[in-house]
Amino acid sequence: MTQREAQAALLTGKAAFITGAASGIGRAAAELFAEHGARLTLVDLDPAVEAVAEKLKAAGTDAIAVVADVSKEEDVAGAVRLCIESFGGLDCAFNNAGINAPRSTFHELSLETWNRVIGVNLTSVFLCMKHQLAHMVQVGAGSIVNTSSVAGFTAAPGQPHYTASKHGVLGLTKQAAREYAKHGIRVNAVCPGVTDTELVQRSLSLSTEIRDSLLQSLPFGRMGEPREIAQAALWLCSSASSFVSGESMAVDGAGICR
Ligand code: NAD
Repeated sequence: MTQREAQAALLTGKAAFITGAASGIGRAAAELFAEHGARLTLVDLDPAVEAVAEKLKAAGTDAIAVVADVSKEEDVAGAVRLCIESFGGLDCAFNNAGINAPRSTFHELSLETWNRVIGVNLTSVFLCMKHQLAHMVQVGAGSIVNTSSVAGFTAAPGQPHYTASKHGVLGLTKQAAREYAKHGIRVNAVCPGVTDTELVQRSLSLSTEIRDSLLQSLPFGRMGEPREIAQAALWLCSSASSFVSGESMAVDGAGICR
């Protein structure tokens, strides 16, 4: 890193915790935060997170991988503890892991599917914040960024469970931002529009027609890149956004224009 790059780095020496880091937006955030000098705890259910950490370590970043299910409290508590023990603290977190939901009409949606989507997309954010805030309160500082979605603002057709989970993430973000400002802690959300990740490719691989009509419907005629979402998370995690808290930031290429 040149001296100029070192001065421009936004997270030098900071201990950052990223969930969903094996793929898509989370993996892009891991790479970007590493470029900005962070020391990383990378969490994912998919053991591929270990290869992400190994690659970053080989390039000189302090990184640990934790294979964990963020919808389970014991897993989240263990991952947060490991971050604090390994890096002496937890300065910022990007609670990003999530799943897409199979489409269903409201009246045909099974309770099992509802519980799974709420568990991975919403309960996980509650659990991550609960354990992260407990540490941040003790040190009187910290920045948390949660991944919601444009479905946090508006209804996603055929996805009542996904819409509810992402609206819920914004509710938790606002609640924590208000309650923890007095402790010097900021809490924000990024709300991606359609972003070119494995999650979206899986849904679009079924039909080129659907893919083409989706692209035509997007104002920029393209999806977002994972790194473009990660850039917003980086800024919100860093002290460059020191007076921004409780914000729900759409990163969607003018997709919804609230
Ligand atoms: P992705 O599938 O590429 O990555 C998600 C990661 O989360 C995967 O590595 C997966 O293994 C991990 N994960 C899933 N369940 C987990 C669990 N229980 N515990 C730990 N890790 C788990 O998807 P992505 O597009 O990068 O999505 C990241 C976030 O962005 C999600 O919260 C998603 O809802 C949100 N989002 C994505 C888009 C999009 O268009 N891609 C749009 C809006 C919001």
